[in-house]
Amino acid sequence: MGKADVIIVGGGVMGSSTAYSLRKNGFEGRIIVFEKDPTYKYCSTALSAGGIRQIYSTSVNIRLSRFSLKVYEKFAEKMAIDGVRAEIDFKQRGYLFLATDKTLPALQKQLIMQNHYGVPSEIVSNADLKSIIPELNTDDLAGGLYCKEDGYLDPYSVMQAYRKNAQLLGVEYLSEEVATILTEQGRTTGVRLVNGTTYSAPIIVNCAGAWGAELSEKIGLPLPLAPLKRQIYLFNTTEKLVKPLPLTIDPTGVYFRHEGDQIVCGFSEDVKPGIDFRWRRSSFDPLWPILAHRVPNFESLKLESGWAGLYNYNTADQNAIIGEHPLLNGYFVALGFSGHGMQQAPGVGLGLAELICNGKYETLDLTPLRVGRFAERDLVIEDAIV
Ligand SMILES: Cc1cc2nc3c(=O)[nH]c(=O)nc-3n(C[C@H](O)[C@H](O)[C@H](O)COP(=O)(O)OP(=O)(O)OC[C@H]3O[C@@H](n4cnc5c(N)ncnc54)[C@H](O)[C@@H]3O)c2cc1C
Repeated sequence: MGKADVIIVGGGVMGSSTAYSLRKNGFEGRIIVFEKDPTYKYCSTALSAGGIRQIYSTSVNIRLSRFSLKVYEKFAEKMAIDGVRAEIDFKQRGYLFLATDKTLPALQKQLIMQNHYGVPSEIVSNADLKSIIPELNTDDLAGGLYCKEDGYLDPYSVMQAYRKNAQLLGVEYLSEEVATILTEQGRTTGVRLVNGTTYSAPIIVNCAGAWGAELSEKIGLPLPLAPLKRQIYLFNTTEKLVKPLPLTIDPTGVYFRHEGDQIVCGFSEDVKPGIDFRWRRSSFDPLWPILAHRVPNFESLKLESGWAGLYNYNTADQNAIIGEHPLLNGYFVALGFSGHGMQQAPGVGLGLAELICNGKYETLDLTPLRVGRFAERDLVIEDAIV
């Protein structure tokens, strides 16, 4: 039987950011990250759209995302190994929620809280929108909420940089699948792998993404989570746009941004929960008229390809679930990020590391996202969910 001090299940962006932050926080014990798929083919991080925004309506999401954005701004230098920068292609081209007469007041309300925490978001007029995206059709719009500091990045590179830096600091990554978490008298004692081997550890961190709820259920601790398929589409336009796009969210919920010369686009379709990675070209059909209406250049678009990934969707309040489980000592989770895990990963890793090392949050108070909030009926109601 192997022995560790901390076992992390899942080596995606959350598991890797947590492992790295534990070491940076001075944790000297043995840390093992179990990752069942070292190719990361299906992990949400590798399949993410990589949007990074601070424009939320709740204090915890704004603070967490602002902290993480500041980390991403200096990430390439800070995570460099042997002088080689950890490039993550962070393009601070802005994040833009387009608004109608009906939706603008809610965005104006959000702005007050965002500005309070130092986020330089602003309400922009239709004329301003035209200067941000000259081709935009603003006929049915009343302006938008824009934050120029925000943007998008390459999620896979972020995850790999955390993983490589964690490994350099002595964290072990083992390519094995955890079958279940072991418990004894109200506390965690280790994990059993699918290959039958057991590893003991007093602290287990569930960072298993869309598979995390199943793992928790196996030990009788269900969480309000479901895997939801989300599709991404990549298309070309014959008539190129004159300026690079911010990550733009149409009032219908369809979002789009540049990826090189191409456009990445997505939409949160109504789908049944379940593990499903089948990408359906036909799901793009209803999006096309919306895109063509918003940006006339998209009328002649050519759909090139796309992919499907999973949101680890929090069915109770769509927000992250972070911290130690109140019913099992030593069992920590970082799950339920729905569509906003990338913009929170640096802050989540640091928060969990502080909680594990020092028993409390120090840099950022993530208490509102605690596991116990569901039983306490103290949900985090966030208006800016995509
Ligand atoms: C299509 C799409 C678009 C998105 N767009 C955005 C966006 O624009 N902005 C944003 O901030 N977020 C976005 N997200 C969400 C974001 O990508 C996720 O919240 C984040 O990547 C979750 O990271 P994670 O480490 O929790 O999960 P994952 O990246 O899924 O990692 C979990 C890992 O655990 C491993 N694992 C699972 N079970 C076991 C086990 N039993 N044993 C061992 N290993 C196990 C898996 O193999 C996996 O590698 C998007 C997600 C998708 C799918």
